[in-house]
Parts: sequence; C-alpha cells; structure tokens
Amino acid sequence: EVRVRFAPSPTGFLHLGGLRTALYNYIFAKKYGGSFILRLEDTDQSRLVQGAGEAIEDMLEWAGIPPDESPRRGGPAGPYQQSKRLELYTQAALHLVDTGHAYYCFCSTQRLELLKKEALRSGQTPRYDNRCGHLRAEQVQEKLSRGGPRVIRFRLESGVESFQDLVFGRTQHEVAQVEGDPVVLKADGFPTYHLANVVDDHHMGVSHVLRGSEWLISTSKHLLLYGALGWQPPAFGHLPLLLNPDGSKLSKRQGDIFIQSFRQAGVLPQALLDITTHCGSGFGTNRIGRKMVDLISEFNPSKITTHSALLELEKLPEFNRIHLQQRIEDEEHRDSLVKELQERIEKAYAKEIQDTGVLHENYITRILHLRKGHISSLKELVSPSYAYLWVRPSVSHQQVAAVTAEARHISSLVLRLIEGQGEELSVDELNKDLKTLAKSTRTTKYREVMKLLRLALSGLQQGPSVAEMMVSLGHTEVIHRLTKLHL
Ligand code: GLU
Repeated sequence: EVRVRFAPSPTGFLHLGGLRTALYNYIFAKKYGGSFILRLEDTDQSRLVQGAGEAIEDMLEWAGIPPDESPRRGGPAGPYQQSKRLELYTQAALHLVDTGHAYYCFCSTQRLELLKKEALRSGQTPRYDNRCGHLRAEQVQEKLSRGGPRVIRFRLESGVESFQDLVFGRTQHEVAQVEGDPVVLKADGFPTYHLANVVDDHHMGVSHVLRGSEWLISTSKHLLLYGALGWQPPAFGHLPLLLNPDGSKLSKRQGDIFIQSFRQAGVLPQALLDITTHCGSGFGTNRIGRKMVDLISEFNPSKITTHSALLELEKLPEFNRIHLQQRIEDEEHRDSLVKELQERIEKAYAKEIQDTGVLHENYITRILHLRKGHISSLKELVSPSYAYLWVRPSVSHQQVAAVTAEARHISSLVLRLIEGQGEELSVDELNKDLKTLAKSTRTTKYREVMKLLRLALSGLQQGPSVAEMMVSLGHTEVIHRLTKLHL
C-alpha cells in the first residue's frame, strides 16, 4: 500500500519549496492509488508560528492537493500533530535505552557550550564527545535518582550501510565520524526531529518518503534508527533543490514566494503547480497548461534527476494566462471565477460602483470571455486600465467643451449607428461600420473621432480598441455613455 506524507514544521507559512514537495507526494499517491498524509512536525515549540499549521492545510486545499489524512481531516493513523504524540516518542526512546542503542546524557549546557567553543577555537566542527555513553549502569542509576535534567542520546554506529535513493541512487553518509551522538529526546520531554520523524513514518505506515534533498544527509541516521528499533524502513527519494532562475536559493524570507502572496496576486493554483513541476524533472512533457490529470499521468519518478531545478518565476504570468483561459472556457470552474471577480470588483470599487449591473453574472461572464487569452490574472481586470468596465468615467466639462463640432457630429452619428444595432454587438461589425463612417466625413480624422469615443466610453487616452470597448460594455451602456457627450 502506497502511503506518502508531507511533513512541514509549522514554523512559517507554506512557500514554493514546500508546495513542490507536497505536490510530488500528492501526485505519487494518486498515481499509485495510495494515500497522501499531512503531518505537522511541531516539536520545536520555540519556533512555532501561531496559525501556521492551519494556514498550510488551507493552502494545500486551495492548491487542489488536499491531504487524505491530516490534522483537520483526521484519519486512521492520527493524531497528525507531533505535539500530540509525545508518548510514542518517549516509548521509542526508552526502548532504545533498554536495548543499549541509546543512553541518558547528563552533561550540563555549560559543558556542551565549552566543548563547542573549544572545537571552534581549534577550527573543528563542534561535536559531542559521547562522554555519557561510557557511564556505568550504577553511575546512570545514581544520576537518574538525583532527578536533574537529562536527555537521551542515540548511539550512532559507524560503518553505515549504503541505501538506494529513488533519485540519487546509491547513497551513504558516514554520520558517526562527523557528529557526536545526537539527542533524540530533549530535557523537556519533546523528541528531536530525527526520532519523531522515524517513529511517525513507521507508525503511520509511510511507504515512501519523498522530501527535499536537504534531508539526504539525515537519511543514514534515520536508517540507523530504523535498524535499532527493529523496524522496516520506507523507501527514500530526495527531490532536487529548487532554485531561483539565477541559481540563488529560494529564500523563505522573500515574502513573494509564499503561496498566500501568489493567491492574493491572482495566480491560479493550476499555474503554480504547473510552473513548480515545469522546471523540475519527472514529467514526460514540458508544455504549459498541464492540469492535475496530466501531471498525474505524465509523472514518472524514475525520471526525476539530481540536478537543481530552476524556477522560472518570470514565466508565471504566461502560465497563468493559459490556465485562466482554460478555466474560463471550462463550465465547471467559471462560477468560482465569476465569484472571485465580483469580490475583487466590490473591493476595488466599492464606493464608485453605480447600479449599472456590472456585478451581474452575465456581464462578468461576457467580460471574462472577451478578455481571456489577453489577461494573465483576474487582478488585472480591476486595475485602472479596466476600471471603465465597472465604473462610469467622469468626463469633465472642459473635456466635452474641447470637442470640436465636427467630432461631436460624428459621434452623434456613431450613437445613432449603435442605437440601430441589435443587443449583440460584434467587434468585426463595429470596426467595419466605424471605418465606413469615418470615411464619409472628410474634415475630421478617424483618429480624432476614435479618441473622442474612447474618452467618452472609458475616460482613457489610450487602451483597447473602441469596438472592443463597446462590445465589452454592451449596447445599453454604450448608448448611455455616448449620450452624455451630447447633453
Ligand atoms: N519537518 C521536516 C521539514 O520541515 C520534514 C522533513 C522530512 O520530510 O522528513 O521539512
């Protein structure tokens, strides 16, 4: 049975790197008919961010990669927050002590600090000298009975065996020589990452661990823990580093890589998922516009490569344009787009909207269809250059007064022309008619007339073609706006 998990620490909000890891796990689960688990690794109480866990789950749902089991959804292997599973870690740690794989350490923080300082002074990497690992049983008992602070450390064995990483192939890290024996249970009774991670993957029945390659060096240590606990380890696959296009590290501190920021900016989840996998490997094609079904069917884990993936964020508008167009054309999703746009319009123009029916579903749907393929986000539609769609422009007296009699005459002809047309305006028809009309008048230039019409329709000096504006606004509204010129 395939069971995979995404195991973020709720020390911050979901960012692109995390989304990528979650996505590969989700796709892997769906591809092989398995389950996708969300587990919050919240054992480092000092670094917790209030609400981050909730927000991570919200974002996974928004992105269309909801977990099957999670803190919110529950499931057979819960609870899904490590802080609620402390007993399991204590049990495992004590078992390790009983079997001689771990030991109590009573070293004071002062002693550890001193060790660290000395190492740094002589240019070495600080490592614990494993002193408490050599205490005799009576000494341990005696110290325990005194009741002072103590931690449990895992005895790292040297000579680790290599393992077969699904992506990186044969891998091996000689951990014992580099580090001292690591703490697995802290003085406050909380486990450290390594122990909690292994215990949970085991108890939650995780079959495959797919995570970022920054964890690759920890895996040997995890395998030693599995061995000591007498458990069968899952398969491991480490995903290549995700980098900015210039090769720099994707930083969590860069506010703009947070999923929430993309969402607020009007980026569609499909575009975000598409771009996160576009740069990476493991997929058959690299075409833009892949939907979840495509990603799942194209995914081939053996095609994931080890070299870093460069995230082409500058292409995001293009990805979004294509996905937005697909969504607009897809009946099933249109309602949610209409709703989102309604909300954006209300928010942006709350005070200025007059009752011109701009919030009406039919009007919004028409605009979406007319602009699809041109706009790369819904947000664009509430920017100043599209304000005319939602708010009637205010054309000043001076502007009207500046209109020449000739132009005014032509505009009244245009008005009559529109009045004579049916409800359904067409860009091609209008373009043809406007040209014919302009030709019939000699003295005023076509461009002058268009300028005037554009001003009356939108208050803008430049923008989309007049015919397009007219079709967007619709018959009644065009007549209303043009009439104003002639009052
Ligand atoms: N809590 C770790 C993280 O924040 C999980 C790493 C893993 O997947 O094992 O990334």
